[in-house]
Amino acid sequence: MRALVTGGAGFIGSTLVKRLAASPGIAEVRALDDLSTGYRSILAGHEDLLREGSILDADALEDAVRGVDAVVHLAAIPSVPRSIAQPLASHEANATGTLRVLEAARAAGVGQVIVASSSSVYGANPRLPKDEFDWTRPLSPYAVSKLATEGYAIAYGHSYDMTTLAFRFFNVYGPGQAAGHAYAAVIPKFLEAALAGRPVEIHGDGRQSRDFTYVDTVCEVIETALAEQIGSPDPVNLAYGTPTTLLDLLALLEDALGHPVERTHVDSRRGDVRASQADGERVRALFGGVTPVELPEGLAATVDWF
Ligand code: NAD
Repeated sequence: MRALVTGGAGFIGSTLVKRLAASPGIAEVRALDDLSTGYRSILAGHEDLLREGSILDADALEDAVRGVDAVVHLAAIPSVPRSIAQPLASHEANATGTLRVLEAARAAGVGQVIVASSSSVYGANPRLPKDEFDWTRPLSPYAVSKLATEGYAIAYGHSYDMTTLAFRFFNVYGPGQAAGHAYAAVIPKFLEAALAGRPVEIHGDGRQSRDFTYVDTVCEVIETALAEQIGSPDPVNLAYGTPTTLLDLLALLEDALGHPVERTHVDSRRGDVRASQADGERVRALFGGVTPVELPEGLAATVDWF
């Protein structure tokens, strides 16, 4: 099998590219990335697999999909606050970008496309845990663009001769996830502050919960989907139903670091959801061979990488 990973110089994409490059079932893996938030050296030893270009550039995309059997589409502007600041850019990269990837894949006769959606599509739906058949009500332009991402993938699976699978990632974390920029995710942000001896900033009271999934678990599921040609007419949560509040996360980080971490509370952020927990039944049913890495173990590996 030959596979293309869009967003392959990003956090999840680079982890997947390195994993697929070592997989006996994969003859060739390519990464397509415009290096807007990704960077070349994250591919450590596999930089030659990177094609620098945008999914919004028809020529670069056509070139990248030529001859591949499967596309894992991870390229996106992956940020709620950034989508609120720049909704058109978010739509262009995430919604239009996905349609372009699917269209290029169809034109090239690619048999399988896997896309990354997000738990943010549940938005205003208060029901917990979130199951894939719950109604969606996006609260940010990012969440709308991810609903479009999964909607297009599923529609292509129905409309054309293509196996598609849309994963709803929850909070993915692990080595390679960058801190130090305005839109950083919570674990690298906390770790960076804690290691620099600064207080970590908690938006709101810290009792908001997130369902964290270690990046290797996510990549193992995707690798299995490729190996077993798994598709689905419905989206699949890629998280295991283990909510952790930010205060509990801080306690676990203190354990992993071996010292207390100072904290300060600031205003809640617009567009953020209060509680997040996946119903992990479908992912467990479809990918029963994957055992998710537990949070303390994943945090220890993340601290080591920092
Ligand atoms: P990331 O920012 O590290 O990776 C995204 C990559 O896409 C970057 O390398 C970026 O340079 C690239 N990119 C952006 N626009 C592009 C374009 N026009 N053409 C080519 N490349 C482009 O983020 P990530 O955390 O690895 O996220 C990967 C995917 O997973 C995204 O689709 C994101 O929306 C989704 N997701 C992530 C999480 C999470 O917790 N990390 C949660 C839900 C969904």
